[in-house]
Amino acid sequence: MKPWEDKVRRVTPYTPGEQPKIKKIIKLNTNENPYPPSPTATKKLRELDTDMLRRYPDPNVSDLVGAIADFYKLDKSQVFVGVGSDDVLAMIFLTFFSESGKPVFFPDITYTFYDVWANLFKIPFERKVLNDNFEICAEDYYETNGGVIFPNPNAPTGTAVPLSFIEDVLEHNKDVIVVIDEAYVDFGAESALSLIDKYDNLLVVQTFSKSRSTAGLRIGYAMGNQELIAALNAVKHSYNSYTMNYPSIVLGVETINDRAYFEETTAKVIATRENTKKELEALGYTFGDSKTNFIFAAHEEFDAKEIFAFLREKAIIVRHFNAPRISNYLRISIGTDEEMAALVVALKEFEQQKRS
Ligand SMILES: *Cc1c(COP(=O)(O)O)cnc(C)c1O
Repeated sequence: MKPWEDKVRRVTPYTPGEQPKIKKIIKLNTNENPYPPSPTATKKLRELDTDMLRRYPDPNVSDLVGAIADFYKLDKSQVFVGVGSDDVLAMIFLTFFSESGKPVFFPDITYTFYDVWANLFKIPFERKVLNDNFEICAEDYYETNGGVIFPNPNAPTGTAVPLSFIEDVLEHNKDVIVVIDEAYVDFGAESALSLIDKYDNLLVVQTFSKSRSTAGLRIGYAMGNQELIAALNAVKHSYNSYTMNYPSIVLGVETINDRAYFEETTAKVIATRENTKKELEALGYTFGDSKTNFIFAAHEEFDAKEIFAFLREKAIIVRHFNAPRISNYLRISIGTDEEMAALVVALKEFEQQKRS
């Protein structure tokens, strides 16, 4: 043991889906959008004023905050922007969950970063077990807690709860901050944004990474009442003021302003998803009613790990979680129609091989 060993903070990090360097693969493992960024954003990138890179970017990210506020018809004081929603969520854990000493509640099957942040910031937490249909139970969140967070739709299960469910949770949690992580909401679920005026303890978090085809820009945002947003900004400026770089701010504004392209591409992903559901069902896969850009599926007879390995051989990469209760599931991101057709062909080949 080295003499400084006890000075090192040891943590277990989040494990992101792999980003292979090879180009010729069908990548259905990290829920990226299969369509390119907005053409107006791409045009802007080519015209970027590179002299601005000499300077520090705007610490308040006001152009992007303003564009997001305009899109959702909010005031700028109701929007906080961070470097991906991962950054926004980390700031939320630090700002709202680290003081009470009571456990933060989130589902047992959910986004695997929540317990990583809780551990990093030494926040106690309790995982509330989803029922056998992988549904969140509102009553589990009635007990005293230090805060509540869950995605809607949930990930990796893909299913959504209605607004009445969120209101039920809010009615039972007026003394803590309730966070709804809406990373996938644009693919068919109901947003809780309409509730932020009624519940001043509600934060709604969204991201450009999935529905706006720009995971590489790293833009996420929280929407809620201005006191919560001000508290987030104070913590952010106590940590690093220049989090969002100049190109991301400029391209982010173009991206959110291109509403037509956003609507067109999300509609395409939804149509492909519904079609893929039919194909998978015909092949004997079972899954919840996904409202996201992925399907969380298990086969009635075949082992998920084996299917995963077979697909990988065919250069189709999906996500498998080696975790309790979900180890026989595959999370399959929705790609283009062509990519999903190739997936279905490969799954048929797998079945043929198994049956011969
Ligand atoms: C993808 C994802 C995020 C984070 O996305 P960013 O790229 O950091 O914006 C947050 N929550 C859930 C549930 C996600 O799936």
